[in-house]
Amino acid sequence: MNDSVRAYQLSALRATLRIASENPFYKRKWKDQIASSARGEGGVELDRLPILTKEELKTELRPMVGEGDKIASIIHTTGSTGPVTYRYRSQGELDRIAEFGKSVVRNIRAGNSRPLAYMLYGPYHGQNLPGPGPIGEGVAPYYFAGAIWDDIFIRQGVEQLRREFTLPGLESRVTQVHGAVRLLRIFTQCLIDMQVPVGETKVEAVVSFAGYMPSEVRRFLGRYWNCNPIETFSFSETFGGATKCPHCNGLQFMPHLLPQVVELDADNPAHSGIGRLLITELYPFGTTQPLIKYFNGDLVRIVDEQCPTCGTIGSLVHVGRDNESCFVESPQGRRLALGSMDLREAAYTPEVKRTVEFPHLKLLKDRESHLGAPVLAAHTKCEGAKTRLTVSFLPNLGLGISQSNLADRLRNRLLEVSPELRATVGEGLVDLDVQPEVGLEKILWK
Ligand SMILES: [Zn+2]
Repeated sequence: MNDSVRAYQLSALRATLRIASENPFYKRKWKDQIASSARGEGGVELDRLPILTKEELKTELRPMVGEGDKIASIIHTTGSTGPVTYRYRSQGELDRIAEFGKSVVRNIRAGNSRPLAYMLYGPYHGQNLPGPGPIGEGVAPYYFAGAIWDDIFIRQGVEQLRREFTLPGLESRVTQVHGAVRLLRIFTQCLIDMQVPVGETKVEAVVSFAGYMPSEVRRFLGRYWNCNPIETFSFSETFGGATKCPHCNGLQFMPHLLPQVVELDADNPAHSGIGRLLITELYPFGTTQPLIKYFNGDLVRIVDEQCPTCGTIGSLVHVGRDNESCFVESPQGRRLALGSMDLREAAYTPEVKRTVEFPHLKLLKDRESHLGAPVLAAHTKCEGAKTRLTVSFLPNLGLGISQSNLADRLRNRLLEVSPELRATVGEGLVDLDVQPEVGLEKILWK
């Protein structure tokens, strides 16, 4: 991280904490910390503050606006891991963010034409076009709204990717395709099935912003588009998020998002192993509804070695969601046995049957072999000192899939993907049971 980013974060954090300490919710929640800072014992310190839970954001942290200001943006989560959560921003906040965005990108792209991007529509993050929102308006890509819901949109997309534009201040060809992982997969398979050579497009970047991109999908997209897909980690409650290093999978957050990691069951900072990811959104973001040490349910692995590609020591790798992952429970606390992202990574394998995607799309020919979500479920059961972790899957009985040892192959893959599973099975804490189950209907979406 360079010095100017660090300087911005320090001053923005001070502003953020000052604004939050005026909010009635935080006044109540931080009363001890605010009292001690008023006694001249230094300002409110981030490390000493309690965690903000999803429940508090949903029910207690009311939006606050200045006089004459009004709510201008409401973003809601997909509710993929619980009830839908809403987050609010006022017009004043949006204006300050736009100013901030302009000052940041003015230096980066001054005088350049804006790139054209094709955005596959899907409200996976509670808004039509995620894009950068008001950040960098005027310099960020211009987003064409695309979709995959019908053949007509697929044809429209192909037409736009082939078209040459002559528009002042904009580049002449679409060079980026953005979308949720699921939509990118379907759009790409349509192009393959329509026999559109990638050389007829000028696409240089494929960017995913919702959902996990398993290596199988990464390879599939990379092969067609002839580029390394950019996977971003984001959640609906914040603008932007983190990109993933293609080598270590480490999360590289945008400067206005400050990550911290605390232990699984205690609020102490975690320095190694598995922990809970907390995010603080820095000024000028979050003035309406400050997000301080927010736990969205994401678990990360802290990687000790330095990554040769991004150079990070202590990369944070997203391993799953708290309420979807499997744990060994003991009186000493929980220990992660299998993160839900690692389960997804392992589940995208030919042995597991997929859902049939978009059967009404006539342009989509191969919709069964790899496009859908795996039909698979995992659960744990405590059996005395041991935990039984059962992974059930709908076997893929398709042609070309060897039917011998389907379960063993999936078992090996799970152990290969998840270091936590290898460790807990190796230490005799977990009995791993992998079994085909004809008729299984549990689907691993996203
Ligand atoms: Zn890296």
